[in-house]
Amino acid sequence: MSAITMRELTKVYPGGVRALDALDLEIADGEFFALLGPSGCGKTTLLRTIAGLEVASGGSVRIGERDVTNLPPGKRDVAMVFQDYALFPHMTVRDNIAYPLRIKKVDRRSRGSKAADTAEELGLSGLLERRPGQLSGGQQQRVALARAMACHPQVFLLDEPLSNLDARLRLEARTFLKRLQRELGVTTVFVTHDQAEALALADRIAVMEGGRIRQVGTPTEVFRRPANTFVAGFIGSTPMNLVDARVHGDELAVGSARLPLPDDAHGQVTDGERLVYGIRPEYLDYSPTTVTGALTGEVVVVENLGSVSLVSLDVPADDTGADGSGTERTSVQVVVAEGAEPEPGDTGWVVPRPGR
Ligand code: ADP
Ligand code: MG
Repeated sequence: MSAITMRELTKVYPGGVRALDALDLEIADGEFFALLGPSGCGKTTLLRTIAGLEVASGGSVRIGERDVTNLPPGKRDVAMVFQDYALFPHMTVRDNIAYPLRIKKVDRRSRGSKAADTAEELGLSGLLERRPGQLSGGQQQRVALARAMACHPQVFLLDEPLSNLDARLRLEARTFLKRLQRELGVTTVFVTHDQAEALALADRIAVMEGGRIRQVGTPTEVFRRPANTFVAGFIGSTPMNLVDARVHGDELAVGSARLPLPDDAHGQVTDGERLVYGIRPEYLDYSPTTVTGALTGEVVVVENLGSVSLVSLDVPADDTGADGSGTERTSVQVVVAEGAEPEPGDTGWVVPRPGR
């Protein structure tokens, strides 16, 4: 078990793509750490650079006390599970799990018993003589994990290990993975593009964009206090509302609406300042009748999400006409409970919950 420290880590691929851009990141010993970000932001590259499968173009990677920047993969004491599991189709489950031990020249007898032990921990004991083609997606994923675990690495690197499973299996595998990591206590870096998965599993999350880290924090921190509009828009089951606003005394003006200035903004902003006001659809209340000072507009879309609905309103965003008659409009989304949904075309009023 070991901490991982990256300093000004840079990867430029032949052809000039800067996949990692002087990235600084510290992952603590024993942490379950998620790398989250949109496709192409550099998650796989970062994982492969930690593993030594890509050579850094600049900067350094340390694992524990060791600078591993220039070490080959086999000398780094890390194990990586790939998105497609990369199992050997012609080998049995036992031989797949034992493969890294064979590479490490562990003798045949202890290879077999170590593979069987690891298989038992992962609930694969009955499947040792099967080949990958005879397993379900969830079982293949466990074999890939078992193969990674068999060597007892200091660091586990998982590249979107759940993305090939269907929704129900994915939930099961999530729980399983979290429990396994807790039991092993091994430093684990987990790549995902799914914010819900990162929030559910990780001790801490790094949100990436364009080869850089935009924020690092616990799930609660990145959810409650996103550092910038990119993180605000990326985290959450529905994107956060981001609305242009202007400070107006101790209120915020959005169109003709006057919203209370959030407590933590007092003393941080000046009268007349323009800023972006962010609030989650879950933290707004919808009213079908007039609320003085509230955001108001026409209901455009009502989307059924199961037990709640997501209602989109078209509201004035232009504060030049204090009556809200300006031409600029913006879309605001609010979560409404079952049974209270408006109809498209209705006029609605929207107010932030106190303290949000
Ligand atoms: P992610 O895993 O977040 O989707 P990647 O790390 O795979 O992102 O890719 C980051 C960027 O680097 C992308 O622009 C991608 O096209 C580019 N890239 C990845 N691998 C290579 C490669 N082998 N050669 C050239 N460019 C690459
Ligand atoms: Mg990737």
